[in-house]
Amino acid sequence: MIRVSGIKLSLDQDEADIRKGLLAKLRIKERDLIEYNIFKRSIDARKKDKICFVYTVDAVLVNEDKILCKFAGDKDVTPTPNLTYEYITPGAVPLKNRPVIIGTGPAGLFAGLILAVMGYRPLLLERGADVVRRTEAVKTFWATGRLDTECNVQFGEGGAGTFSDGKLTTLIRDLRCRKVLEEMVAAGAPAEILYSHKPHVGTDILRHVVKNIRQHIISLGGEVCFNSKVTEILLEQGAVTGVVVNDQEKIDTEAVILAIGHSARDTFKMLYDRGVKLSPKAFSIGVRIEHPQSVIDRAQYKQFACHARLGPAEYKLSYHSPSGRSAYTFCMCPGGVVVAAASEEGGVVTNGMSEHARDAANANSALLVGVTPADFGSEHPLAGVEFQRRWERQAYELAGSNYHAPAQLVGDFLADRPSRTIGQVQPSYRKAVTLAELKHCLPRYVVETLKEAILEFDKKLKGFALPDAVLTGVETRSSSPVRIERNEQRESNIAGLYPAGEGAGYAGGIVSAAVDGIRVAEAVAAKYKPLGDGT
Ligand code: FAD
Repeated sequence: MIRVSGIKLSLDQDEADIRKGLLAKLRIKERDLIEYNIFKRSIDARKKDKICFVYTVDAVLVNEDKILCKFAGDKDVTPTPNLTYEYITPGAVPLKNRPVIIGTGPAGLFAGLILAVMGYRPLLLERGADVVRRTEAVKTFWATGRLDTECNVQFGEGGAGTFSDGKLTTLIRDLRCRKVLEEMVAAGAPAEILYSHKPHVGTDILRHVVKNIRQHIISLGGEVCFNSKVTEILLEQGAVTGVVVNDQEKIDTEAVILAIGHSARDTFKMLYDRGVKLSPKAFSIGVRIEHPQSVIDRAQYKQFACHARLGPAEYKLSYHSPSGRSAYTFCMCPGGVVVAAASEEGGVVTNGMSEHARDAANANSALLVGVTPADFGSEHPLAGVEFQRRWERQAYELAGSNYHAPAQLVGDFLADRPSRTIGQVQPSYRKAVTLAELKHCLPRYVVETLKEAILEFDKKLKGFALPDAVLTGVETRSSSPVRIERNEQRESNIAGLYPAGEGAGYAGGIVSAAVDGIRVAEAVAAKYKPLGDGT
């Protein structure tokens, strides 16, 4: 098979025209092309008057060697690499008990899936509920402000990404990314995530996907228990011997994958108290910004805005201030809504979510400024958690102590005055927003850097500084404030305890967390032999 890149189609051309493009590019006859499939599709919008799709395809040809010779040195025509995921050879140490995985976010689910396929019959423990009950709990919180601290946008089946845009873009280069996408497609995600340059599934589809992966794990002999918070890890001579669930049930195990996400503050504290090596980590805080989607579409696609084949436009922007601080947009949700993402009482946390159709009126994005342990005011490993908590609580109080979120119009934020009324952009955050001055719930350097950044971003994306655009605060859970140290075998300072995913500080986003879950599952498999005969 031969991989051919750089096949361009105009917006008015049909995907069937790829065939013509392929024949033309390779200068071959119809009869020499046996079949092809799309490997990647991206949009080239650099020239706004000439927006086009660019395809990479894998083609089966009659005489591939001859073609490869003809195009030797052309980076657009190369042999198709083998992207098949290879399961590793299991290790020799016999397990006395099933491996335990704490958390069913992407890291935990994919670790569970790999170990289940390999015959380890893993036990997955999740503090929140299954996705159906979790959805009810989240809806109740958004409608009434009644927060379930064990089951919310951060906790429950599927982890933090279940109520998300389901963007599957990642900056990591790892062959396991393909495995993650393939498993998601097998579990019900649209096949186009395999080739779209910016794949996304949306929260509506993601909820089915995580449930189907869970059922797959169970069908392979694994077990998944909800409403099962690990409240203690049991240690003997520096090694794990078991875990305690809900302060009651003791489960023996000598291998624990810790895939707890970035918001399990009580679990971080328990780990710290038991001597697990943690260190503070840089992350970012800021606000969500909401614009009309039509403003973003016009800025990105000009006359092609609203073209049926383009879908809602996205953006990604960054700014380096002379002060040394940096600001950037993150987790942009076209046609989405801003969501209440708190997991702890008395704090307000924002994030973004969209359905597969991405058809809501507003575009939203996190607008963040990087903070480092030097900003936390203490060298304690959990100082970053306290730093987050402080601003979340200030936001809660500022907005009325009822889970409304503080919001301010961009024009007023830039002019340093309170907003009096909402303009053309209706904030999507539920329960509701309270107009307030965001400078009262963010560090001063964050406010100043955001002001500079908004003006700079407006030069790159016309309308970004729209006076009526809405800022809603505070966005504090962009990534983990803690790293759980691990060695090359991916084990922590406690033997048998394997930190994984975003909460441990080794991933940022759905795909990279899933990939890290796979890596850690491989580390467990490399050491132990599967449960079975003689174990
Ligand atoms: P998590 O997904 O956080 O999963 C950890 C799990 O562990 C949770 O289910 C939690 O309940 C459980 N847990 C914690 N402690 C315990 C315990 N003691 N006992 C038992 N269980 C426990 N990323 C993207 O790539 N694209 C997006 O579009 C996107 N949008 C997002 C939108 C929102 C609203 C949020 C909150 C996040 C979004 N993210 C997105 C980030 C993404 O969700 C995370 O990067 C990813 O989920 C991290 O995966 P993880 O498995 O490491 O941790």
